[in-house]
Amino acid sequence: MNDSTRKEISRLVIDIKEQVQYLEELGVETLAADLPVNTFNRVDKSISQKTKAGGEHSDSPRVDTLKRPDGITTKSPPKNSTRQKDFLNSTRISSVSRPSKEIQSSNQDSDKKVNPPVEKPMTKTQTLTESLFGDASVSLPKTDETLEKIYKEIGGDCSRCVLCEKRTQVVNSVGDPDADLMFIGEAPGADEDEQGEPFVGRAGKLLTKIIEAMKLSREKVFIGNINRCRPPGNRQPVPEEVEQCKPFLIREISVVRPKVIVVMGNTACQNLLGTKVGITKLRGNFQEYYGVKVMPTFHPAYLLRDPRKKREVWEDMKMVTDFLANNGSE
Ligand code: SF4
Repeated sequence: MNDSTRKEISRLVIDIKEQVQYLEELGVETLAADLPVNTFNRVDKSISQKTKAGGEHSDSPRVDTLKRPDGITTKSPPKNSTRQKDFLNSTRISSVSRPSKEIQSSNQDSDKKVNPPVEKPMTKTQTLTESLFGDASVSLPKTDETLEKIYKEIGGDCSRCVLCEKRTQVVNSVGDPDADLMFIGEAPGADEDEQGEPFVGRAGKLLTKIIEAMKLSREKVFIGNINRCRPPGNRQPVPEEVEQCKPFLIREISVVRPKVIVVMGNTACQNLLGTKVGITKLRGNFQEYYGVKVMPTFHPAYLLRDPRKKREVWEDMKMVTDFLANNGSE
């Protein structure tokens, strides 16, 4: 094999890696279409290794696959997904796509499953129908509790889920308890686990820059995670762990009562909204959660891996800024 052939192969490998990363973000799990057997095996192995590596964009091993007519194998919702309980149980999440606020009531009233993550883009009137919570018309409950009370109840030695075993400390949310804007991620990473504050590592610094570009500061927003303890090896929290910790976040939301929640990354978005629809499809469209507008966007850690996605995040943040500037109107 001569040098130019080697270079050509290297270029092809780099191209394939970039495509795999992009397809993972779209929710495609394996490629089986029109590829020679050897190539397929290599790509599949590469995806499988990435899956084992975990992270907020890795695919869950609990997800089954579904073969499309065009040969691409996609993830399908788990057959026996655990219906999580919530301290407020009878709310539902609906999609309010820009600019239309039209919601298909027939979808809201049904309990049918959403389609697998890889499908046609959502239309302006399409509604997210898979929810763990029921009716979205229910707004946040009134509460007179304080954040301090919630944190006291969580406790510094919380052992409600197995994430307590490997964590250094519980990482509670930070920021302005009267903030109009809340940022929510998946779970603390190594830096957060060490320092006891959410979003303080490399991804956190990028989040701070995003917040400042919105002409705000970390002190003027509220920042937290769905799970407060670092999962070992930065794996995704499993549903049982989310079920234990998420009610505290919802209580925080009830206290802070933000006008907008920015939920960052696929896992956080799916765990917050209770949907299997992927972040690539959801981002850029306001969703609704207990009557609060939610803007799904990519996780800053993902932007560190693929800076090309910063443009999309900035578009999402501009929508949030405009919404806040218009005093709650899209
Ligand atoms: S993740 Fe949440 S529920 Fe689990 S141990 Fe930590 S604080 Fe407790």
